[in-house]
Amino acid sequence: MTQDTTLLIVEDEPKIARLMDDYLTSHGYRVTTLGHGDEVLPWLAEHSPELILLDVMLPGKDGLTLCREIRNTWPAIAIIMVTAKVEEVDRLLGLELGADDYICKPFSPREVVARVKAVLRRSQALAEQSSPNHQRDAAAPVTLDEDGWQALANGQDLGLTAVEFQLLRVMMQSPGRIFSREQLMDHMYRDNRIVSERTVDSHIKKLRKKITEALPEQEIIRSVYGVGYKYQPEG
Ligand code: CA
Repeated sequence: MTQDTTLLIVEDEPKIARLMDDYLTSHGYRVTTLGHGDEVLPWLAEHSPELILLDVMLPGKDGLTLCREIRNTWPAIAIIMVTAKVEEVDRLLGLELGADDYICKPFSPREVVARVKAVLRRSQALAEQSSPNHQRDAAAPVTLDEDGWQALANGQDLGLTAVEFQLLRVMMQSPGRIFSREQLMDHMYRDNRIVSERTVDSHIKKLRKKITEALPEQEIIRSVYGVGYKYQPEG
């Protein structure tokens, strides 16, 4: 099973990169190593690894920025952040980067392989759950056409703007998870925070109105008072 599994290691310290590469390769994974943060997104545009081991401190684009950008563009790729300090992990968790796991340096190669296996097992189970067949079985009230940037309800295009589509997509990827306005803003605008939280509210309001027009009897996007919003169709 591991033979077909492609991993990307992003690590600027050659010794550590080689150690991880050797160990994972000897466990049957196909491994590519990149040493500079700026190389990652161009590489991902042409390859689809199952998992990325992502160092936090990198030359060029840093690991935190990369993690957010990868999450936005390639949500199916599992990410394990690698950090030099144990104390960093709490801070990283607080940042809600969406990484699947964290490894602290110095680590044993055996630990890396164990984490990689565990994360892959989890993400493969999730992928099976959210496969198109499963979604159809569950009769999702709204479905997304990723290529056309369209959201459909009962086969009808909801006519969402790009921002509304992105908001809906982010929330639909984690049903039941409550997103703060700030987290939603992070997904909508990558570079800077020129928008206010009210802007998020106004986009959500329009999004909900369009959904309600198509599905009058259902509440799909719920507001959680004082916290934010979540996607939760049933109940
Ligand atoms: Ca580093």
